[in-house]
Amino acid sequence: MKPSPFEYHAPRSLDEALGVLAEEAGAKVLAGGQSLIPLLNMRLAAPAHLVDINRVAELDTIEVSERGVLVGALARHTVVERAADAARVQPLLREAIRHVAHPVIRNRGTVVGSLAHADPAAELPAVLAVLGGEVEAASARGRRTIAAGEFFLGPLESALDPDELAIAAFFPAAPPRTGTAFLETARRHGDYALAGVAALVTLDEDLRVSGARAGYLGVGAVPLVIDLAEPAAAAQAGRPPGTLDWSAAAAFARERVDPESDIHADASYRRHLVGVLTERAMGAATAAAFEGV
Ligand code: FAD
Repeated sequence: MKPSPFEYHAPRSLDEALGVLAEEAGAKVLAGGQSLIPLLNMRLAAPAHLVDINRVAELDTIEVSERGVLVGALARHTVVERAADAARVQPLLREAIRHVAHPVIRNRGTVVGSLAHADPAAELPAVLAVLGGEVEAASARGRRTIAAGEFFLGPLESALDPDELAIAAFFPAAPPRTGTAFLETARRHGDYALAGVAALVTLDEDLRVSGARAGYLGVGAVPLVIDLAEPAAAAQAGRPPGTLDWSAAAAFARERVDPESDIHADASYRRHLVGVLTERAMGAATAAAFEGV
């Protein structure tokens, strides 16, 4: 199929892009087009105006500091995946992006576009959520910062207003003595996952687990974050550092998810995956934390 007719805008500056979004009700932003173009072709979306931001060079940025990684709206998945300094400051970014679709799609698709698209089966929303990151939004009315916990409202629904552009996303750095891991199960590599987990484990100075969090994709309408520090502390009691068994934390997580069934997998299988992936990912994140000390 072909898209419904639309007026095409190709602004060259952020101000120009925000001007079009302010003037044209129902305008849609076009970034990498890897999700929007199929939706247009299938006529599941029929905006009257498309605002193509690919010529807005000021959005093509990655800023890495010790605080974290600020990814501009035009930074492609591949560029972020290959940025060694970004991977050093926040390894989850690279680990998760490797599971996003295929290289050709990652060459064009953007990290911020993936967040704005708000697909609950996508990898990057879960990463932003587990890290407690933020999205910077701009419109002709001004700018605001939206915390990850308030950004994802439902399947394909974000907190962005229709005239707002997500100009960047901030992924906070991993604290000292923190290990990360990203695991998912998909029918084929590159497919959207049936379920996945982004794991973070932080050790204290005595090398005991002091923080443990998991962000899940594919098991709800929005990315789900579960704090596993409590079950980890209980499992750790009386054991030497580095011998933590994550099976109780995995059971804890399995009880707290409420996935839906669809044609790809039923709810009970997804819940089972949450347990298996949690145990493996938390174990891998713990090993990574020990490697870093
Ligand atoms: P677009 O397609 O250009 O836009 C997507 C939506 O976000 C649109 O509604 C658009 O208006 C809005 N938008 C985009 N950027 C902004 C912005 N800066 N401000 C406001 N709104 C904005 N993704 C995964 O996460 N995991 C996968 O496994 C996966 N598999 C895929 C497999 C295939 C075959 C294909 C075609 C895509 C797959 N994707 C997957 C999607 C891909 O990652 C896209 O790159 C991503 O979802 C959207 O990024 P984009 O830049 O292409 O956005």
